[in-house]
Amino acid sequence: MDKNKQANQQHQVVTRFAPSPTGYIHIGNVRSAIYPYLIAQQNQGRFILRIEDTDQARYVGGATNLIKDTLKWLGLQWDEGPDVGGNNGPYEQSQRKQIYHQWAQKLIDSGRAYADDTPSETIQAYREQANREKRPFLYREHRPAKTPEWHEGIPLRFKSDPKERTWHDEVMGDLRAGPEVQDDIILIKADGLPTYNFAHIVDDAEMSVTHICRGVEYLPSVGNYLAIYEALGLTMPKFVSLPHILGPTGGKKLGKRDGAKSVVEYREDGILPEAMLNYLACLGWNDGTEDEIYSKTDLIQKFSIDRIQDSGARYDENKLLWLNGQWIRKLVEEEGIENFYPRTKGFWPASSTPYDDEYKKQVLKIIYDRLKTLSDLKTMTVYFFEDPEIDLTMIFDNKFLKKLSEEELSELLQTSAQKLEQTPWDEQNLQVALNDLLTETGKKPAELFSLIRIALSFAPFSPALNLTMAVLGKNVVLARLHHAASAIEGQDNNF
Ligand code: GLU
Repeated sequence: MDKNKQANQQHQVVTRFAPSPTGYIHIGNVRSAIYPYLIAQQNQGRFILRIEDTDQARYVGGATNLIKDTLKWLGLQWDEGPDVGGNNGPYEQSQRKQIYHQWAQKLIDSGRAYADDTPSETIQAYREQANREKRPFLYREHRPAKTPEWHEGIPLRFKSDPKERTWHDEVMGDLRAGPEVQDDIILIKADGLPTYNFAHIVDDAEMSVTHICRGVEYLPSVGNYLAIYEALGLTMPKFVSLPHILGPTGGKKLGKRDGAKSVVEYREDGILPEAMLNYLACLGWNDGTEDEIYSKTDLIQKFSIDRIQDSGARYDENKLLWLNGQWIRKLVEEEGIENFYPRTKGFWPASSTPYDDEYKKQVLKIIYDRLKTLSDLKTMTVYFFEDPEIDLTMIFDNKFLKKLSEEELSELLQTSAQKLEQTPWDEQNLQVALNDLLTETGKKPAELFSLIRIALSFAPFSPALNLTMAVLGKNVVLARLHHAASAIEGQDNNF
């Protein structure tokens, strides 16, 4: 690397997110993007996106776009990487083959790597032999005495120098790896592409990465990585190992079976990026207070590596939904309906299509504080766009209404309709009319208001009655009250 470039970058914090484009972006993957982003931001450093696509068998087309879209959606803009460029490109490992070969050559020259054309069947036989003898398989015990000249097509192996190695992990503390876990690992595969084990070390060095944030699943390999850093004369970056995200019951690692969806699915279900970022950042980190709502700016300010938990964090979807509801409220109240409304596009029920934006904004204004996800709009607002199906059991089984006779119920609806017919149609006057109706009928709010609410929506919940009526409009309200009254009478006649 250019000496000046190295000097300039020496004091800058550089972090990276290095996903493999395998198609599915798991919650845990995203957390491995959030922390390095925050660390770079709070240190005026650089955050790199690097695509680790050297495992051709696992490659899924379109997956890189999915990764980029997800990061953009969450507001985690990278400073270097695909689309953005930077001094250390290319940022897709499959395009960096020559770079890995140059670094591999250094190891060959110093006698620390060797080409190995041992057939895979022979290696398999060594492995089986070790299994039979109930001892760990170590390839170095079979290191060939004579090795061919290296060229593409033959795997290149590291010549290990097993010994006790220790290091400090920013989250897990002081760690060690004994000689028994250090081996002659493959650096370059037969297809000429590097393994993860080699590629990430080269790239992190080339890109001057100062902090490696990744899952604890890499910890057992660190002994081998340290040997490679040493052989290449590299200083190892800081290791920030992130504990597993555990399934809802604790115990084991979160898997697809626990109902954890990919980030894209959460997005389609109406989770806001602000809530997702907030939730994932706090999964295994807290700032020592009871606070739960953190914007990206708060996180940049408050995040600290030393408060990342060293034990697994339990994934709790209800908490995510709760946070999302809080964020919907916060954003609507801070930004106003007008600014928030575009986010609801695609989340309204099909029957809302003929209605204009203004009407939907009015609906949003009175219902937003009950939403947990944007897709709740689909189920919770249907009666604003189409007449609900009448379900009289909702009236007859209601704990306040079941003591009233059908006749009385129908009469209450008719009386309400008459009163409302003469009421100027706005929120305040409607509230006055509703209060008058209580006095005139001698009924309690739980009785009269429940009845009207059901007759208008036949839904388990609806916003405040005067607001719902103001939005629905006079004609719709009167028609629904009459309709429910006739249905009750019809029901009556059937008995
Ligand atoms: N490509 C690795 C993965 O997706 C990244 C590990 C790392 O961050 O170094 O798991």
